[in-house]
Amino acid sequence: MSHKPKEMELLLKENTSLKNKLTNIKDSQLAIINILEDYQLEKQEKNFITERFRLSTEAGGIGTWNFDVANQNFVCDRLVYNILGIPTRNYYNKITWEDFAKIIPQEELDKISEAIKISLKKKISFCREISFPNKDKRRYLRIKGMYHMVEDKTYMFGIVTDITQEVEVDKVKTEFVSLASHQLKTPLTSIRWYSDLLLDELQDEHKEFLQEIQKSTGRMVNLVNSLLNVSRLELGTFAITPSEFNLRQMIKELKLEFIGIIKDSNINFTVNVDKDIPETYIGDEVLLRVVFQNIISNAIKYTPSGGEVAVKLSIKKEVSFKDKSIKTNNILLEVKDTGIGIPEKQKDKIFTKLFRADNVYDIDTDGTGLGLYLVKSILKEIHGDIWFSSKENQGTIFYILLPEKCYTKREGNKTFEKMIY
Ligand code: ADP
Repeated sequence: MSHKPKEMELLLKENTSLKNKLTNIKDSQLAIINILEDYQLEKQEKNFITERFRLSTEAGGIGTWNFDVANQNFVCDRLVYNILGIPTRNYYNKITWEDFAKIIPQEELDKISEAIKISLKKKISFCREISFPNKDKRRYLRIKGMYHMVEDKTYMFGIVTDITQEVEVDKVKTEFVSLASHQLKTPLTSIRWYSDLLLDELQDEHKEFLQEIQKSTGRMVNLVNSLLNVSRLELGTFAITPSEFNLRQMIKELKLEFIGIIKDSNINFTVNVDKDIPETYIGDEVLLRVVFQNIISNAIKYTPSGGEVAVKLSIKKEVSFKDKSIKTNNILLEVKDTGIGIPEKQKDKIFTKLFRADNVYDIDTDGTGLGLYLVKSILKEIHGDIWFSSKENQGTIFYILLPEKCYTKREGNKTFEKMIY
């Protein structure tokens, strides 16, 4: 049977169309295979990155966590569970605030939730250290977190590290400094004591030598006292004992204490105590004396001969808090000098332990870089505050704000050492 030409033509067309379709299918097949291969590669890459991340954090002893803010879901990896001492079989686990609360004291948890709130509000990262009792010792954790948005959803991602060993090593170092300073203190005190006695007996020329010995011993006593104070602060062994004392009298006594160095360095030293300052103040007298001594002695030390140091004690009637002005009766100490000032680029380091600004080395003064660190830490303990304004080569004003009455109390077996001038 033979096909008519029209039918033949149709069959041929159909054949060509089928061939084209087959080619298209083959192309699509190839494309799909390519896509699958790419997907496979991407998956391998992702697995590799996930595995690398997991092994690296495990090797570094770093636990990771994330917090889904809208659903209030906390997810932690196994390491966080290990650090907290909670057994787990899975690698990633949901953890609730209640689970944390079984292990970590409430006040420590509050620190973290406060940090997370601030971090979310200001869109910044945070770092907090907390501690909790664990079997027969305390464990210390450092928790860091970072704000992150994924398609309108807010998350926090972060890490947890166990810093117990770091804290313990620090403690041993501080205990060593405390012990060494203590051992140094006794012989130094007796050198001062006997040279004091000798000064009354000797001829002028010998007196000069002895005065030099005394000055150097005084500096060493102050260094040892600073080290002792810092170690007492860091070990938390110092007591805060509030009692009633005369604040006006204390300022007068401080002026007398500094009279020698004020004369030697030819400084115009003035004291102005506002009439509103009450006769009696409640607070720890020894601690406040250490604070005032440090600030006033710095002003004198960092002011060249012929300069001025003005001490002013007044009542701060208003403070601003969250854009509102609040009435107070806080006590404000201002210590203003016309000295070398603090270099602009080093201002943010001024309360850091052992920090001394570059310009102090030009004027060859003694110092340890411990005073302001100590002052700031003491004020934090007693709910006071400190800040300053300064211009290099023009002068500095330090401000110390004290609560109207300072009832803060703390048990401890040590007090703070006063400096000698
Ligand atoms: P230091 O024993 O070095 O005085 P401090 O902790 O008391 O230690 O002070 C830290 C640093 O702050 C000082 O070394 C100095 O650089 C700077 N500083 C403190 N007070 C003043 C001031 N009144 N004028 C200029 N610099 C100051």
